[in-house]
Amino acid sequence: MDKSLKSIINNQINYFSSKKTIDIDLRINSLKNLLREIKSSEDEIESALFKDLGKSKGESYLTEINFVYTEINIAIKNIRRWAKRKSVRSSLINFPSSDYIIPEPYGLTLHISPWNYPFQLSIAPLIGAVAAGNTVVLKPSEYSKNTSLLLEKILSNVFDPSHVVVVNGGVDISTKLLEFKWDYIFFTGSIGVGKIIAKAAAKNLTPTTLELGGKNPCIVDETASIEISAKRIVWGKFTNCGQTCIAPDFIVVSKKIKEKFIYELKKQIVKTYGNNVVDNDEYGRIISDKHMNYLVSLLEKENIIHGGKFNFDDKFFEPTLVEINNLESKIMEDEIFGPILPIIDYDDFKEVHDIIKKYSHPLALYIFTKKKKFGRKFLESYPFGGGAINDTVMHIANDRLPFGGVGQSGMGKYHGESTFNTFSHFKAYLNKPLWIDPPLRYPPFKNKINFLKKILKLI
Ligand code: NAD
Repeated sequence: MDKSLKSIINNQINYFSSKKTIDIDLRINSLKNLLREIKSSEDEIESALFKDLGKSKGESYLTEINFVYTEINIAIKNIRRWAKRKSVRSSLINFPSSDYIIPEPYGLTLHISPWNYPFQLSIAPLIGAVAAGNTVVLKPSEYSKNTSLLLEKILSNVFDPSHVVVVNGGVDISTKLLEFKWDYIFFTGSIGVGKIIAKAAAKNLTPTTLELGGKNPCIVDETASIEISAKRIVWGKFTNCGQTCIAPDFIVVSKKIKEKFIYELKKQIVKTYGNNVVDNDEYGRIISDKHMNYLVSLLEKENIIHGGKFNFDDKFFEPTLVEINNLESKIMEDEIFGPILPIIDYDDFKEVHDIIKKYSHPLALYIFTKKKKFGRKFLESYPFGGGAINDTVMHIANDRLPFGGVGQSGMGKYHGESTFNTFSHFKAYLNKPLWIDPPLRYPPFKNKINFLKKILKLI
């Protein structure tokens, strides 16, 4: 085992064992300090995000920094209530007793984060872990290196490393970290790596949250509002250059409105990013040459109906529409995670069901329709992480909606109170008085069984 990692982890074990993190004031003050440090580092954060992903100041503020402010403020305001022991009704068979649930921290938590929202996706889980009284080792992505180094600086200015520490590095460091015994692992990233994490966690039966990806279908039926649907889809797809886990991956549109809808999509792309997107400083960039190559390979043999330009010099990739007529093409195999939007049409809605089944358990599912009951019934009939009727991506902006996947797209939920719950074990106990000890539960049962059955039926 790596000696320096071992020493970091031993320090966290000692810190957690000292019970310092049980103190709610320490948790609140840590989060207040974190908030202050982030506020004073806003310019640096925006600059790092620009260097890593070409994110504009506006986009960085809205999708990364402000998101984190909201999460910290909610936690600071509610920790005392969340962490309180709660009294629940006793059961008849236990009468008399007082029954309680008390949230307690797991202990040492390992967080491994991705590069696409490298600030937000590193800090948001950490807020809940600290709020719930855990220690944190955070391993950010090696691809978003400017943000990862800044995270190290910000967090070391706020926390004692035996409480929260950043360990930067790539797969080698991740692998070494996974050799240790953790009390909780929180991973955000690809499905493939998620399986590696789950396997490593299984060695010690470590509970795990896996925030993964996949192909998110976006359905547009014949009644959809063409202009608003196109506008909201263009925004959800091309923000952060398509590198968003809950971006619509592909569109399935009714043949009846297809031509008009494609016309409107093109119009909205131009309206949002201009005719010469490469010169628009509010349009982001692709993270790496490796990902550029992958996106370029997806366009081979495809029918490009808008965009398609790219250059490796500054990792620019134009918002691109591709028309497809079957699901066999390479572009429909894996998550695109870039600004390419395949469009397929349907005649009969049955075809839509087949398509959704093929990409079952997506992280997000969207439907654009004016038929209210139908929209609701549609979303309620498939398993998926989160989604929307007549919108994309925005379910993430409500901390009261738990965020996370199901099946292939992950396990576990967070945001707002759900993050606190994720990092808490809800310990249950009852307190029995000594003044009475009803004989019912003790053998011999022979003469009590009928009475017992009656009592149990009442429960
Ligand atoms: P990734 O899985 O390649 O990497 C994520 C993290 O895991 C990085 O820190 C990386 O260093 C580490 N890692 C990579 N290979 C590893 C290995 N073999 N062993 C241990 N650790 C390893 O993911 P990415 O490319 O950074 O991010 C893109 C993926 O993340 C997409 O699939 C996207 O959908 C998903 N994602 C999901 C969410 C969500 O909330 N569900 C959010 C953002 C991104």
